[in-house]
Amino acid sequence: MNVLVLNAGSATLKFQLIRTDADRIANDQDERLAKGLVERIGGEALLRFESQGKPPKRSSAPIRDHRAAVDVVLRWLVSDEADTGLRSLADIEGVGHRVAHGGERFTRSVLITPDVVRGIEDMIDLAPLHNPHALKGITAAREVLGRDIPQAAVFDTSFHHTLPEQAYLYAIPYSLYRRYRIRRYGFHGTSYRYMAYRYRKLAGKTREDTNLVCLHMGNGSSACAIKGGISVDTSMGFTPLEGLVMGTRSGDIDPAVMDFIAAKEGLSIHDVDLLLNKQSGLLGVSGLTNDMRELLAEELEHEDRRARLAIELFCYRARKYIGSYLAAMNGTDAIVFAGGIGENSPEVRARILDGLQWMGVELNAERNESMTRGREGVISTDDSRLTAWVIPTDEELLIARDTMRLVHGLELPH
Ligand code: AMP
Repeated sequence: MNVLVLNAGSATLKFQLIRTDADRIANDQDERLAKGLVERIGGEALLRFESQGKPPKRSSAPIRDHRAAVDVVLRWLVSDEADTGLRSLADIEGVGHRVAHGGERFTRSVLITPDVVRGIEDMIDLAPLHNPHALKGITAAREVLGRDIPQAAVFDTSFHHTLPEQAYLYAIPYSLYRRYRIRRYGFHGTSYRYMAYRYRKLAGKTREDTNLVCLHMGNGSSACAIKGGISVDTSMGFTPLEGLVMGTRSGDIDPAVMDFIAAKEGLSIHDVDLLLNKQSGLLGVSGLTNDMRELLAEELEHEDRRARLAIELFCYRARKYIGSYLAAMNGTDAIVFAGGIGENSPEVRARILDGLQWMGVELNAERNESMTRGREGVISTDDSRLTAWVIPTDEELLIARDTMRLVHGLELPH
């Protein structure tokens, strides 16, 4: 089955075309036929399209809205140039969407019906920056491919629906949880589901036997404690602002700081919220950039003090979360790194794990250095009591597989 995976942002549309079915899943032979990105939708958009085994093609074109973006993507996917083997739009048999927030209702991926669309709309209150875009992607795909095209929604929050109350409740008046569902939801769930699935395969474990601390570290970063194959704690909360230090987000902070900054700087609470989301984290501390690669270069080449400080804050916070999850889970078997930083920076991985030898994790420097750019495997020594892994994440693959399973009425795995 050919599944188009869409991830719609405010002015962006990411896509992948994946061929998958039960046999391909069993043999890990899903085919990635094409992928790409449309940026700056609403003006002169930048397009990057890439079909399997070919160099990416870059271009620009005026693209009015998400519907026009989906139209351009689909026309390219069935063109001779893309050479995907698809001859017409009818060869696309399903569309899977990444949806940020499923609230308490969507604990698994679902086929999209008018009722599901209403459910995603209901969640806009909780995810005003994200859910509206996913809805645009859903509407655009229906308009271009016709109302009978099966579509599925895969939620960033679903994997965390197993969090126990003590992990998801904030210590605020319970009535606020009851009235407004203010609680910790967690995000990056599809990524964690993939890491747990892949670790099970590589390490030969059963789901019940999968105990991990996972770190998804990219521009957005979070940690997740997985015990017996399910999420029991995660560092992002009501929104993706909580937890680790990120590219532009502060992560954990005393909420009293908001009122203080508002008063001192003459800002509204809304402005301070923006400041914590957009001008903080690595960017805020370094005063330079939100990009970890650039910070590491600044530190090395110019011994920039604030670049170093930003990296240290980032690694220290991650190390503290690993420690706290070990306490929460009564120990773990492995630590798994993923995301742009987790998958590509041996330096950051080493700095996070440095000082955790007491808990039985010993890094193998050579393995760690070699694990970059899509490589997966163990980075700890053979004697290490706790293993450390790099597992490049693949959310699109799980979205495509979930979509195929839902369309064919197959059971969804955890
Ligand atoms: P993502 O949001 O997952 O795409 O991750 C983006 C982040 O990964 C940025 O901070 C990049 O600087 C970082 N990154 C990508 N490659 C490297 C690398 N080789 N070393 C350090 N950081 C990297």
